[in-house]
Amino acid sequence: MGKIKGFIEINRQNEENIPVKERIKNYNEFAILLNEAEIKKQGARCMDCGIPFCHSGCPLGNLIPDFNDMVYKGEWEKASKLLHSTNNFPEFTGRLCPAPCEKSCVLGIVNDPVSIENIEKNIVERAFKNGWIQPQPPKKRTGKTVAVIGSGPSGLATSQQLNRAGHNVTVFERDDEIGGLLRYGIPNFKLEKNIIDRRLKILEQEGIIFKTNANVGVNYDIKNLDYFDAIVLCGGATKPRSLPIKGIESKGVYQAMDFLTQQTKIVFNKPIDEKKISAKNKNVIVIGGGDTGSDCIGTSNRQGAKSVTNFEIMPKPPGSRSEKTPWPYWPLQLKTTTSHEEGCERNWLINTKEFITDSDGNLTAIKTIQVEWEIIPGQRPKLIEKPNTEKIWPCDLVLLSLGFTGPETILSKQLGINLNKKNNYESKNYQTSIPHIFTAGDMRRGQSLIVWAISEGREVAVQVDKYLTNVSYLQTKGAGDIPLV
Ligand SMILES: Cc1cc2nc3c(=O)[nH]c(=O)nc-3n(C[C@H](O)[C@H](O)[C@H](O)COP(=O)(O)OP(=O)(O)OC[C@H]3O[C@@H](n4cnc5c(N)ncnc54)[C@H](O)[C@@H]3O)c2cc1C
Repeated sequence: MGKIKGFIEINRQNEENIPVKERIKNYNEFAILLNEAEIKKQGARCMDCGIPFCHSGCPLGNLIPDFNDMVYKGEWEKASKLLHSTNNFPEFTGRLCPAPCEKSCVLGIVNDPVSIENIEKNIVERAFKNGWIQPQPPKKRTGKTVAVIGSGPSGLATSQQLNRAGHNVTVFERDDEIGGLLRYGIPNFKLEKNIIDRRLKILEQEGIIFKTNANVGVNYDIKNLDYFDAIVLCGGATKPRSLPIKGIESKGVYQAMDFLTQQTKIVFNKPIDEKKISAKNKNVIVIGGGDTGSDCIGTSNRQGAKSVTNFEIMPKPPGSRSEKTPWPYWPLQLKTTTSHEEGCERNWLINTKEFITDSDGNLTAIKTIQVEWEIIPGQRPKLIEKPNTEKIWPCDLVLLSLGFTGPETILSKQLGINLNKKNNYESKNYQTSIPHIFTAGDMRRGQSLIVWAISEGREVAVQVDKYLTNVSYLQTKGAGDIPLV
């Protein structure tokens, strides 16, 4: 590596954020990029650790120590080429990935890990700014046609890879805009939507055709897909989990995704179909302590909520890595997001028993009970309610962010594809029981992460390419054999 003792001499430096009071006035991104000198120093913290566990920590197998070294030496264009050889969209992961690579960084055993995610973001932002990211249309076309259903990160990665292999790719998306959860699920303050548009321009220039407002199986007849030599289903897993308890029908209880999608449409002055769900001047309770819950907290504060309270049924994780998840595993550890920092009261080991309403059916409060988990070896943990711990929480808006039960089944039913035990689309090596139909992303693996969606898109593309032409030269995980200038 460039600087042998960099990891001893230099401390980790994170990005600064715009102060909370300022940033919650709008829906813009609020991280301030480090300057070039500082980010080069961060690259120098990468050690010559011998076995870079970060390679396997990253589902894409990003070649992290190599691009860290290039950044340290100021070889930005070379770093961008290397990064793009394994990751189609580092601008998404560089902003939104929980960075399993950093959790498996060797330096992380004794010190703060290398700020890999931030380095990735800086590489790709510099590359866009300098015009290094240019369309790479294929030199030859194979004459084969592929339909990709769904335009989230898995559909986009699939289509870019297959198009680069020379196939003619058409992407069908039921929404009015391309991007999947990146577009309407993840709030603008985490990912500004011009970041998606900038990449889409490249994909279009490479020759990919995008059809929006095409809900396959609903307003777009499935028979039209007969034209295609292969089909890849990348429809996501967005069937929301509900809370079937008394009062669930109350006016004031909403699914998180309805709230988040609506807010992003409002940011872009798009018409919304339903009545506005507003947190303004309300006491908001967000049920569910994951990423979606965190996004609801950030959005509620931006809308001007009077108070925001968060419930989680699981115990509060430890402040530092639990002994049950030693390095280099993904740690069980308390996560405090920038949305949490913006203001909310977090409660753990709490279960919701009832939504309480007035005589007109308007939500007025929630009834909860404290719980604990009984652990019996070899059995699933058992939820125990603690007697005499009921509590009434006055509130006017409840947002349910309880995860997702799986993908929608309209495509599986119409195409005759089985679901597996976990309710996801069944496949073997990404191929369904119908030979020319493949599947990838959350639809295949269940709700997951952007980095996994991109990884699945790259993997399925290889299988489709082989199916169409018997051979594939597409790369999946970092093989490091691209010609570096
Ligand atoms: C609120 C929220 C926040 C998240 N935050 C993060 C985060 O910070 N970091 C992270 O790594 N992950 C995050 N995730 C998870 C991540 O967004 C997903 O894992 C990822 O988007 C999955 O990609 P995908 O392409 O498989 O599916 P999706 O992104 O869900 O895309 C599927 C697309 O298919 C379309 N579609 C479905 N059926 C049809 C049909 N019949 N015809 C046409 N189109 C169809 C849908 O409209 C959708 O656009 C978050 C998820 C949510 C819900």
